[in-house]
Amino acid sequence: MQIDVISALFIVVAIGFLIIFYVLPRYGPHYTSRLTCPNCRKSFNFHWIPGATLTSLIRRNYRVLKCPYCHIKSTFDIAATRVSVPKKTKVKT
Ligand SMILES: [Zn+2]
Repeated sequence: MQIDVISALFIVVAIGFLIIFYVLPRYGPHYTSRLTCPNCRKSFNFHWIPGATLTSLIRRNYRVLKCPYCHIKSTFDIAATRVSVPKKTKVKT
């Protein structure tokens, strides 16, 4: 079976996407934030990965999330409410 350059490149890109979306969120550095909903005042845990998405790079420490209790979208400061630190593996700030 012959694999041409385009097919090989496609496979490499596909594997790269798999690593970014499946491996990094599970094994890469991630934080847990204890967030409190401004609408229903209930608190919940939120797991997030620094710099994982394009919006997180633009919006830095703020995330628009849907509350799991009242399902109303709110903006949360995930850095200020952070409760756990990631594993000490080359932390770049
Ligand atoms: Zn709520």
